Amino acid sequence: MSEKISNKVINFGAGPGKLPFEVLKDVQNELLSYGNSKISILEMSHRSNDFKKIVENAQKRLTEILNIPENYKVMFLQGGGTGLFAAIPLNMMTTGSADYIVTGTWSAKAAKEASKYGKVNFVTPPTKTYTEIPNKSTWTFNPNASYVYYCDNETIHGIEFHDIPETKGIPLVVDMSSNFLSKPIKISKFALIFAGAQKNVGPAGITVVIVRKDFIGSAMPICPSIFDFAVVSAENSIHNTPPVFQIYFVGQVFEWIHKNGGVENMNILASKKSKLIYDIIEESQGFYLCPIKKDCRSRMNIPFRIKNNEELENAFVAGAIALNMLQLKGHRSVGGIRASLYNAVTFEDAQVLANYMNKFYKENN
Ligand SMILES: *Cc1c(COP(=O)(O)O)cnc(C)c1O
Repeated sequence: MSEKISNKVINFGAGPGKLPFEVLKDVQNELLSYGNSKISILEMSHRSNDFKKIVENAQKRLTEILNIPENYKVMFLQGGGTGLFAAIPLNMMTTGSADYIVTGTWSAKAAKEASKYGKVNFVTPPTKTYTEIPNKSTWTFNPNASYVYYCDNETIHGIEFHDIPETKGIPLVVDMSSNFLSKPIKISKFALIFAGAQKNVGPAGITVVIVRKDFIGSAMPICPSIFDFAVVSAENSIHNTPPVFQIYFVGQVFEWIHKNGGVENMNILASKKSKLIYDIIEESQGFYLCPIKKDCRSRMNIPFRIKNNEELENAFVAGAIALNMLQLKGHRSVGGIRASLYNAVTFEDAQVLANYMNKFYKENN
Protein backbone atom coordinates (compact mmCIF):
# COMPACT_ATOMS: atom_id res chain seq x y z
CA MET A 1 0.00 0.00 0.00
CA SER A 2 2.52 2.62 1.09
CA GLU A 3 4.83 1.44 -1.68
CA LYS A 4 2.21 2.38 -4.23
CA ILE A 5 1.64 5.75 -2.59
CA SER A 6 5.33 6.58 -2.62
CA ASN A 7 5.76 5.55 -6.23
CA LYS A 8 2.88 7.70 -7.32
CA VAL A 9 3.62 10.82 -5.31
CA ILE A 10 6.64 13.06 -5.72
CA ASN A 11 7.31 15.50 -2.91
CA PHE A 12 9.16 18.64 -4.08
CA GLY A 13 8.73 20.43 -0.73
CA ALA A 14 11.46 22.74 0.56
CA GLY A 15 11.31 21.59 4.16
CA PRO A 16 10.39 19.35 5.72
CA GLY A 17 11.49 17.75 2.49
CA LYS A 18 11.29 14.36 0.87
CA LEU A 19 12.93 11.50 2.81
CA PRO A 20 14.33 8.33 1.22
CA PHE A 21 11.49 5.85 0.88
CA GLU A 22 13.73 2.93 1.88
CA VAL A 23 14.54 4.67 5.15
CA LEU A 24 10.88 5.43 5.91
CA LYS A 25 10.08 1.80 5.24
CA ASP A 26 12.86 0.51 7.53
CA VAL A 27 11.83 2.91 10.26
CA GLN A 28 8.22 1.77 9.92
CA ASN A 29 9.25 -1.88 10.19
CA GLU A 30 11.28 -1.19 13.28
CA LEU A 31 8.91 1.25 14.96
CA LEU A 32 7.13 -1.13 17.31
CA SER A 33 10.28 -2.83 18.54
CA TYR A 34 13.80 -1.50 18.12
CA GLY A 35 16.45 -4.19 17.68
CA ASN A 36 16.27 -6.59 20.62
CA SER A 37 14.90 -3.98 22.97
CA LYS A 38 11.24 -5.13 22.77
CA ILE A 39 10.13 -1.49 22.95
CA SER A 40 9.70 1.28 20.41
CA ILE A 41 12.49 3.74 19.74
CA LEU A 42 9.89 6.33 20.79
CA GLU A 43 9.76 4.81 24.29
CA MET A 44 13.44 4.19 24.78
CA SER A 45 15.47 5.77 27.57
CA HIS A 46 18.03 8.24 26.29
CA ARG A 47 20.37 6.79 28.96
CA SER A 48 20.12 3.26 27.56
CA ASN A 49 23.06 1.55 25.92
CA ASP A 50 20.95 1.06 22.81
CA PHE A 51 20.54 4.80 22.41
CA LYS A 52 24.18 5.58 23.24
CA LYS A 53 25.10 3.26 20.38
CA ILE A 54 22.65 4.99 18.05
CA VAL A 55 24.39 8.32 18.73
CA GLU A 56 27.86 6.83 18.33
CA ASN A 57 27.01 4.99 15.13
CA ALA A 58 25.47 8.09 13.59
CA GLN A 59 28.61 10.08 14.48
CA LYS A 60 30.84 7.37 13.08
CA ARG A 61 28.96 7.05 9.80
CA LEU A 62 28.83 10.81 9.29
CA THR A 63 32.56 11.06 10.04
CA GLU A 64 33.17 8.45 7.38
CA ILE A 65 30.95 9.87 4.64
CA LEU A 66 32.26 13.42 5.09
CA ASN A 67 35.84 12.46 5.94
CA ILE A 68 35.72 14.50 9.16
CA PRO A 69 39.19 14.94 10.69
CA GLU A 70 39.95 13.92 14.30
CA ASN A 71 40.04 17.46 15.63
CA TYR A 72 36.32 17.94 15.00
CA LYS A 73 33.36 16.95 17.15
CA VAL A 74 29.96 15.88 15.77
CA MET A 75 27.09 17.03 17.99
CA PHE A 76 23.30 16.94 17.84
CA LEU A 77 21.54 20.04 19.13
CA GLN A 78 17.92 21.06 19.55
CA GLY A 79 16.26 24.33 18.65
CA GLY A 80 16.50 23.89 14.88
CA GLY A 81 18.66 25.94 12.56
CA THR A 82 17.29 28.99 14.36
CA GLY A 83 18.72 27.72 17.65
CA LEU A 84 22.17 27.74 16.08
CA PHE A 85 21.69 31.38 15.02
CA ALA A 86 21.97 32.10 18.77
CA ALA A 87 24.25 29.24 19.82
CA ILE A 88 27.00 30.33 17.40
CA PRO A 89 27.52 33.84 18.79
CA LEU A 90 26.96 32.57 22.35
CA ASN A 91 29.83 30.12 21.92
CA MET A 92 32.07 31.77 19.38
CA MET A 93 31.79 35.58 19.50
CA THR A 94 34.83 35.84 21.74
CA THR A 95 36.08 39.20 20.42
CA GLY A 96 32.68 40.87 20.71
CA SER A 97 32.11 41.02 16.96
CA ALA A 98 31.52 38.77 13.98
CA ASP A 99 31.28 39.15 10.19
CA TYR A 100 28.16 38.07 8.30
CA ILE A 101 27.83 37.49 4.58
CA VAL A 102 24.13 38.08 3.96
CA THR A 103 22.76 36.58 0.74
CA GLY A 104 19.15 35.78 1.67
CA THR A 105 16.51 35.40 4.34
CA TRP A 106 18.34 32.79 6.42
CA SER A 107 21.69 34.55 6.67
CA ALA A 108 19.83 37.82 7.37
CA LYS A 109 17.99 36.16 10.26
CA ALA A 110 21.23 34.71 11.59
CA ALA A 111 22.86 38.15 11.54
CA LYS A 112 19.89 39.71 13.34
CA GLU A 113 19.98 37.06 16.07
CA ALA A 114 23.75 37.41 16.50
CA SER A 115 23.42 41.19 16.97
CA LYS A 116 21.80 40.47 20.35
CA TYR A 117 25.13 39.18 21.61
CA GLY A 118 27.69 41.49 20.05
CA LYS A 119 28.55 43.63 17.06
CA VAL A 120 27.67 42.29 13.63
CA ASN A 121 29.59 43.56 10.61
CA PHE A 122 28.08 43.07 7.20
CA VAL A 123 30.70 41.78 4.78
CA THR A 124 28.63 42.53 1.68
CA PRO A 125 26.71 45.70 0.80
CA PRO A 126 23.01 45.36 1.70
CA THR A 127 20.75 44.31 -1.17
CA LYS A 128 16.98 44.54 -1.37
CA THR A 129 16.41 41.53 -3.55
CA TYR A 130 18.48 38.44 -3.05
CA THR A 131 19.34 37.33 -6.57
CA GLU A 132 23.12 37.03 -6.47
CA ILE A 133 26.20 36.69 -4.29
CA PRO A 134 27.71 40.20 -4.33
CA ASN A 135 31.03 40.33 -6.16
CA LYS A 136 33.97 39.43 -3.95
CA SER A 137 35.69 42.74 -4.76
CA THR A 138 32.95 44.46 -2.70
CA TRP A 139 33.48 42.33 0.42
CA THR A 140 35.04 43.84 3.51
CA PHE A 141 36.15 41.76 6.47
CA ASN A 142 36.80 43.09 9.95
CA PRO A 143 40.18 41.75 11.07
CA ASN A 144 38.90 41.68 14.66
CA ALA A 145 35.90 39.47 13.83
CA SER A 146 35.60 36.25 15.86
CA TYR A 147 34.30 34.45 12.82
CA VAL A 148 32.82 34.89 9.36
CA TYR A 149 29.34 33.45 8.89
CA TYR A 150 27.56 32.54 5.67
CA CYS A 151 24.72 30.36 4.40
CA ASP A 152 25.88 27.90 1.73
CA ASN A 153 22.40 27.47 0.29
CA GLU A 154 19.63 30.02 0.72
CA THR A 155 16.56 27.78 0.67
CA ILE A 156 13.99 30.49 -0.06
CA HIS A 157 15.83 32.45 -2.76
CA GLY A 158 17.70 29.55 -4.35
CA ILE A 159 21.23 30.94 -4.04
CA GLU A 160 24.10 28.54 -3.49
CA PHE A 161 27.82 29.07 -3.04
CA HIS A 162 29.78 26.90 -5.44
CA ASP A 163 33.05 27.57 -3.68
CA ILE A 164 34.16 28.29 -0.13
CA PRO A 165 34.65 31.99 0.71
CA GLU A 166 38.24 33.03 1.42
CA THR A 167 38.34 34.79 4.79
CA LYS A 168 42.04 35.56 5.23
CA GLY A 169 42.39 33.33 8.26
CA ILE A 170 39.23 34.36 10.14
CA PRO A 171 37.38 31.21 11.32
CA LEU A 172 34.56 30.27 8.98
CA VAL A 173 31.05 29.22 10.07
CA VAL A 174 28.51 27.85 7.62
CA ASP A 175 24.79 27.08 7.60
CA MET A 176 24.35 24.07 5.32
CA SER A 177 20.80 23.25 6.41
CA SER A 178 19.45 22.81 2.91
CA ASN A 179 22.43 21.34 1.05
CA PHE A 180 24.12 19.25 3.74
CA LEU A 181 25.35 15.92 2.35
CA SER A 182 24.58 16.95 -1.23
CA LYS A 183 28.31 17.25 -2.01
CA PRO A 184 31.71 16.52 -0.49
CA ILE A 185 33.08 19.39 1.61
CA LYS A 186 36.55 20.19 2.85
CA ILE A 187 35.83 20.15 6.59
CA SER A 188 39.23 21.56 7.53
CA LYS A 189 38.28 24.91 5.95
CA PHE A 190 35.63 25.43 8.63
CA ALA A 191 35.41 26.23 12.33
CA LEU A 192 31.80 25.06 12.38
CA ILE A 193 29.26 23.55 10.00
CA PHE A 194 25.63 23.09 10.96
CA ALA A 195 22.48 21.75 9.33
CA GLY A 196 18.92 21.55 10.55
CA ALA A 197 17.88 18.02 9.62
CA GLN A 198 14.47 18.61 8.07
CA LYS A 199 15.67 19.85 4.69
CA ASN A 200 17.96 17.11 3.45
CA VAL A 201 18.72 14.54 6.17
CA GLY A 202 15.73 13.75 8.36
CA PRO A 203 12.75 14.97 10.37
CA ALA A 204 12.61 18.36 12.10
CA GLY A 205 13.85 18.56 15.68
CA ILE A 206 17.56 17.96 15.41
CA THR A 207 20.47 20.00 14.13
CA VAL A 208 23.73 18.39 13.12
CA VAL A 209 26.78 20.39 14.22
CA ILE A 210 30.38 19.69 13.21
CA VAL A 211 32.72 21.90 15.23
CA ARG A 212 36.49 22.15 15.44
CA LYS A 213 37.39 21.14 18.97
CA ASP A 214 39.30 24.32 19.83
CA PHE A 215 36.03 26.27 19.45
CA ILE A 216 34.49 24.26 22.30
CA GLY A 217 34.78 25.78 25.77
CA SER A 218 34.54 29.53 25.14
CA ALA A 219 30.82 30.09 25.68
CA MET A 220 29.59 33.33 27.22
CA PRO A 221 28.44 32.94 30.85
CA ILE A 222 24.85 33.70 29.77
CA CYS A 223 24.84 30.79 27.27
CA PRO A 224 22.08 28.29 28.15
CA SER A 225 23.56 24.89 29.05
CA ILE A 226 21.68 23.13 26.25
CA PHE A 227 23.53 25.38 23.76
CA ASP A 228 26.93 25.31 25.47
CA PHE A 229 29.22 23.32 23.15
CA ALA A 230 31.37 22.25 26.13
CA VAL A 231 28.36 20.77 27.94
CA VAL A 232 26.86 19.13 24.85
CA SER A 233 30.21 17.74 23.75
CA ALA A 234 31.22 16.42 27.19
CA GLU A 235 27.97 14.44 27.43
CA ASN A 236 28.06 13.39 23.78
CA SER A 237 24.77 15.13 22.93
CA ILE A 238 22.91 13.48 25.82
CA HIS A 239 22.98 16.32 28.37
CA ASN A 240 19.20 16.34 28.66
CA THR A 241 16.61 14.20 26.88
CA PRO A 242 17.42 14.58 23.20
CA PRO A 243 14.93 13.82 20.41
CA VAL A 244 15.82 10.13 20.38
CA PHE A 245 13.75 9.30 17.31
CA GLN A 246 15.20 12.14 15.23
CA ILE A 247 18.79 11.15 15.98
CA TYR A 248 17.96 7.54 15.12
CA PHE A 249 16.38 8.70 11.86
CA VAL A 250 19.28 10.87 10.69
CA GLY A 251 21.59 7.96 11.50
CA GLN A 252 19.51 5.82 9.14
CA VAL A 253 19.77 8.50 6.43
CA PHE A 254 23.57 8.56 6.87
CA GLU A 255 23.54 4.78 6.29
CA TRP A 256 21.38 5.23 3.20
CA ILE A 257 23.79 7.79 1.76
CA HIS A 258 26.71 5.49 2.50
CA LYS A 259 24.94 2.62 0.69
CA ASN A 260 24.05 4.81 -2.28
CA GLY A 261 27.46 6.01 -3.37
CA GLY A 262 28.11 8.55 -0.63
CA VAL A 263 28.15 12.30 -0.99
CA GLU A 264 30.15 11.85 -4.19
CA ASN A 265 27.14 10.26 -5.85
CA MET A 266 24.69 12.74 -4.27
CA ASN A 267 26.85 15.47 -5.82
CA ILE A 268 26.64 13.96 -9.31
CA LEU A 269 22.90 13.47 -8.98
CA ALA A 270 22.34 17.02 -7.69
CA SER A 271 24.07 18.41 -10.79
CA LYS A 272 22.13 16.17 -13.17
CA LYS A 273 18.72 16.80 -11.60
CA SER A 274 19.10 20.57 -11.37
CA LYS A 275 20.55 20.89 -14.89
CA LEU A 276 17.46 19.19 -16.26
CA ILE A 277 15.22 21.89 -14.76
CA TYR A 278 17.49 24.91 -15.37
CA ASP A 279 17.92 23.93 -19.03
CA ILE A 280 14.17 23.98 -19.54
CA ILE A 281 13.96 27.39 -17.88
CA GLU A 282 16.74 28.74 -20.13
CA GLU A 283 15.32 27.26 -23.31
CA SER A 284 11.80 28.57 -22.66
CA GLN A 285 12.71 32.07 -23.91
CA GLY A 286 11.21 33.92 -21.00
CA PHE A 287 8.22 31.69 -20.36
CA TYR A 288 9.92 30.30 -17.25
CA LEU A 289 12.02 32.89 -15.40
CA CYS A 290 14.64 32.20 -12.74
CA PRO A 291 15.75 35.51 -11.21
CA ILE A 292 18.99 34.12 -9.76
CA LYS A 293 22.33 34.91 -11.41
CA LYS A 294 23.64 31.85 -13.21
CA ASP A 295 26.88 31.48 -11.27
CA CYS A 296 25.13 31.02 -7.92
CA ARG A 297 21.99 29.07 -8.76
CA SER A 298 21.08 26.44 -6.19
CA ARG A 299 21.08 22.77 -7.11
CA MET A 300 18.72 22.06 -4.21
CA ASN A 301 16.00 24.71 -4.44
CA ILE A 302 14.99 26.08 -7.83
CA PRO A 303 12.67 29.09 -7.66
CA PHE A 304 11.04 30.24 -10.88
CA ARG A 305 8.20 32.35 -12.17
CA ILE A 306 5.96 31.74 -15.17
CA LYS A 307 5.84 34.98 -17.17
CA ASN A 308 5.36 36.69 -13.78
CA ASN A 309 1.73 35.66 -14.16
CA GLU A 310 0.14 34.42 -10.97
CA GLU A 311 -2.78 32.82 -12.77
CA LEU A 312 -0.47 30.69 -14.88
CA GLU A 313 1.52 29.79 -11.78
CA ASN A 314 -1.60 28.68 -9.92
CA ALA A 315 -2.59 26.58 -12.92
CA PHE A 316 0.89 25.05 -12.98
CA VAL A 317 0.73 24.11 -9.29
CA ALA A 318 -2.82 22.73 -9.59
CA GLY A 319 -1.88 20.69 -12.67
CA ALA A 320 1.16 19.33 -10.85
CA ILE A 321 -0.95 18.28 -7.86
CA ALA A 322 -3.31 16.47 -10.23
CA LEU A 323 -0.27 14.51 -11.42
CA ASN A 324 0.82 13.81 -7.82
CA MET A 325 3.66 16.31 -7.74
CA LEU A 326 3.31 18.02 -4.39
CA GLN A 327 4.56 21.16 -2.59
CA LEU A 328 5.75 23.08 -5.65
CA LYS A 329 4.34 26.43 -4.57
CA GLY A 330 7.04 29.06 -3.96
CA HIS A 331 7.75 30.56 -0.56
CA ARG A 332 5.13 33.15 0.39
CA SER A 333 7.79 35.90 0.45
CA VAL A 334 8.89 35.43 -3.18
CA GLY A 335 5.87 33.81 -4.86
CA GLY A 336 6.02 31.71 -8.01
CA ILE A 337 7.16 28.11 -8.03
CA ARG A 338 9.93 26.39 -6.11
CA ALA A 339 11.14 22.89 -6.90
CA SER A 340 13.33 21.37 -4.20
CA LEU A 341 15.54 18.54 -5.42
CA TYR A 342 16.94 17.10 -2.20
CA ASN A 343 18.90 13.83 -2.05
CA ALA A 344 15.76 11.71 -1.74
CA VAL A 345 14.31 13.16 -4.96
CA THR A 346 15.48 10.76 -7.67
CA PHE A 347 16.64 11.61 -11.19
CA GLU A 348 13.42 9.96 -12.43
CA ASP A 349 11.38 12.25 -10.15
CA ALA A 350 13.13 15.27 -11.67
CA GLN A 351 12.39 13.90 -15.14
CA VAL A 352 8.68 13.71 -14.35
CA LEU A 353 8.76 17.39 -13.39
CA ALA A 354 10.79 18.26 -16.50
CA ASN A 355 8.28 16.51 -18.77
CA TYR A 356 5.44 18.36 -17.09
CA MET A 357 7.24 21.71 -17.51
CA ASN A 358 7.74 21.01 -21.22
CA LYS A 359 4.11 20.08 -21.68
CA PHE A 360 2.87 23.09 -19.73
CA TYR A 361 5.09 25.36 -21.85
CA LYS A 362 3.71 23.97 -25.09
CA GLU A 363 0.14 24.36 -23.94
CA ASN A 364 0.45 27.85 -22.52
CA ASN A 365 3.17 29.64 -24.43
C1 LIG B 1 15.03 26.10 7.28
C2 LIG B 1 16.32 26.76 7.43
C3 LIG B 1 16.75 27.30 8.66
C4 LIG B 1 15.89 27.32 9.90
O1 LIG B 1 15.64 26.08 10.37
P1 LIG B 1 14.64 25.81 11.60
O2 LIG B 1 14.97 24.42 11.95
O3 LIG B 1 13.25 26.01 11.11
O4 LIG B 1 14.99 26.77 12.67
C5 LIG B 1 18.02 27.85 8.73
N1 LIG B 1 18.81 27.91 7.64
C6 LIG B 1 18.42 27.42 6.44
C7 LIG B 1 19.35 27.49 5.28
C8 LIG B 1 17.17 26.83 6.31
O5 LIG B 1 16.79 26.35 5.11
